[in-house]
Amino acid sequence: MGLQKAGYDTLLLEKQKNIGATYKKIDITEDLYLYPILKKYNIKPQTISNISFWHAGDEYFKFKSKIKDLFFIRGNHKESLEKQLFNQASSEGLDTIFSAKVKIKNNKIFINNKEINSKIIIGADGIDSIITKYYFPHEKYRIIEGYGRSYKNLNIPIGETHIFFEQSFVPGGYIYLGKTKSLGTIILGGLNKLNDNYFKKITQNNLKLSSIIGKRKGSEIWGKGIISNINKRVYKNTILVGDAARVSDPLFLYGLRPALISGDLAVKTILEYLENGNNLHNYDNLLKYNLLQDYSLLNIVRNTFEKSSQKDIEFIIKNLKFIDDNIGIDKISEKSSNILKTIMLLYFKNPFYTTKIGYKAIKSLIETF
Ligand SMILES: Cc1cc2nc3c(=O)[nH]c(=O)nc-3n(C[C@H](O)[C@H](O)[C@H](O)COP(=O)(O)OP(=O)(O)OC[C@H]3O[C@@H](n4cnc5c(N)ncnc54)[C@H](O)[C@@H]3O)c2cc1C
Repeated sequence: MGLQKAGYDTLLLEKQKNIGATYKKIDITEDLYLYPILKKYNIKPQTISNISFWHAGDEYFKFKSKIKDLFFIRGNHKESLEKQLFNQASSEGLDTIFSAKVKIKNNKIFINNKEINSKIIIGADGIDSIITKYYFPHEKYRIIEGYGRSYKNLNIPIGETHIFFEQSFVPGGYIYLGKTKSLGTIILGGLNKLNDNYFKKITQNNLKLSSIIGKRKGSEIWGKGIISNINKRVYKNTILVGDAARVSDPLFLYGLRPALISGDLAVKTILEYLENGNNLHNYDNLLKYNLLQDYSLLNIVRNTFEKSSQKDIEFIIKNLKFIDDNIGIDKISEKSSNILKTIMLLYFKNPFYTTKIGYKAIKSLIETF
């Protein structure tokens, strides 16, 4: 149940003229814990699948996961995630001001120079959030750049995803793509500044990628993800969600699932605050237990990944099938004994590379804490 449905007056301040992310693209996310949220807010992915291909150099691994991937259209499109959410909330009574010029002064929100009096403010204004900047002016962060293209079609089956690791072109990053019935999206995400030249260079050099794209031109997508040191998401009566709350997973910077989960937890917290007088800061604990507690491990994996060479990654991809057959990729993070078993299996396959990567992982562990 949303805040409108519970009978509260809600006002959305949107800086754009309409609803929809600036660029039309597909966001793909794991389905973990999302079904109750999809049901509650009446939202549907365009495609559901579980087939992914992991590529590095000439090595690749086809993964059929127990966890499904949900594909959502983003942008000004009738089936986009944001249109679905907006239509639902509007039908329940949400008011909206479009082309809103929002300012914050003395802890107060002004819209087109008029103060908005509100019991609660939800900062859901994305990666360049003015709310986050205002309340957390000393935030320290790293930027992961994103650049890509969307196409009407790609030469892969609907529901397939591919991830390519190319440490020389996108250090600390990847090339990610997937296709639904109406759209295909390819994204480069990495530590360096990415642009069309990079995109052309990478896609022309990589035979698999160029055969997936064919002669298509596609439309551009820009963006970024942020890894931040913020560890509180409530300030007075303001509560941050989604990219503004810096809750994206620190390994791949996927932010859609965290945005949906944090949004839902914010609604729960606000309802308990308004109805039972519970503390708004409970939101920070809920986030910790429902989302952020796995992030320390993911931070270590990211740190190790950034230290890894292309050859290290090729070694891992080459052995993923062996690990999947013996332990199950889905099960690795379930128990620490499975992590240990994975390391033993890799060591058995190649002691040199396993020791090398293990050393980088230990260094990352020490640096992370
Ligand atoms: C290129 C790219 C590819 C991605 N691919 C994936 C993926 O495959 N899977 C995945 O899980 N995640 C992906 N992400 C991340 C995902 O898109 C975001 O994490 C998610 O959209 C965050 O949702 P949000 O609602 O917090 O922010 P947004 O979707 O950015 O929404 C913020 C809203 O606030 C509005 N706004 C902003 N500033 C103001 C202001 N000052 N006043 C009023 N309104 C304002 C904006 O117009 C927008 O409507 C990708 C991101 C990028 C950039």
